[in-house]
Amino acid sequence: MRSKVRPGILRVTLLGTGIPNPHINAFGTSTLIEAGDQTVLIDCGRGAVIRMGQLGISLGSIETVIISHYHSDHYSGLFDLLMTGTIPQPYANRKVPLDVYGPPGIEGVAEGAWLITEPDRNIRVADKEIDPAHMRIVPHCYEEEGVVYDKGGLKIIAIEVDHGEFIQPAYAFRVEYNGHVFVHSHDTRYNENLIYQAKGADVFIHEVASAHPDTLANYPGVKVAIDHHATPRDVGRVFAQTRPKLAMLTHLVLLPPNPMPMDTVTAEIAMEYDGIVLVAEDLLTIDIGLNVSIIPYHHGGKL
Ligand SMILES: [Zn+2]
Ligand SMILES: [Zn+2]
Repeated sequence: MRSKVRPGILRVTLLGTGIPNPHINAFGTSTLIEAGDQTVLIDCGRGAVIRMGQLGISLGSIETVIISHYHSDHYSGLFDLLMTGTIPQPYANRKVPLDVYGPPGIEGVAEGAWLITEPDRNIRVADKEIDPAHMRIVPHCYEEEGVVYDKGGLKIIAIEVDHGEFIQPAYAFRVEYNGHVFVHSHDTRYNENLIYQAKGADVFIHEVASAHPDTLANYPGVKVAIDHHATPRDVGRVFAQTRPKLAMLTHLVLLPPNPMPMDTVTAEIAMEYDGIVLVAEDLLTIDIGLNVSIIPYHHGGKL
């Protein structure tokens, strides 16, 4: 079992580093932020509750979720967390509604969640297991970039990014605690606003996408997906202009039938950026303090 976050440390746990493609090693995007007495989940992609179970994190300890944008790989796990999180067992046991912050549209998500969770809720209320109010999403709409969350010294700032014409708005996040800074691009193309607001980050995690020219020519679906994201050269330019202590790649849009090899991606990044670049994987814990420590699951998690 991992220990509680130490005083003064900003802890980032990558629960999911994937895209919509079902993959056992890369679940949908989901990032747990822990600092002081604050716990916030940013995005809640597929399988987030499984990853919390692996780490021994109680689902009931999550009372606040922030959504970056409304692609399924960033919020499809929300309904599992909402329902399963109320079950009165040690792995869950949430005793409050779930506060969910999102761009415009979050009210509809909350209304829809109340509807789809009704059959389960009715059974558990009849069995006297739960208070029905705890299976409610309380929606908080944020309509522009800026501070979304500011409690107990933990500040989470939305940064407007460019994820394509029909996915507006979409946000990256800058997380600040005790002088430590973590930035996650979420889904975006090369974006000057993100570069500007990611300055001074200790850890900067950026998405990346790449495909062979013949794949782009022959598979229109791959081209649509790739056009919404940042190329390896783009990501190299972003890291070169921000120079975080730790640069990391996540949300790897490397699609079948002929996915671009990871070492080709990193070689292209290296044409623009001469620093160290790591590739994220699910269940990595990153502790940001005087230094940056990266703890793999088999050392920091539950065996
Ligand atoms: Zn995505
Ligand atoms: Zn997206």
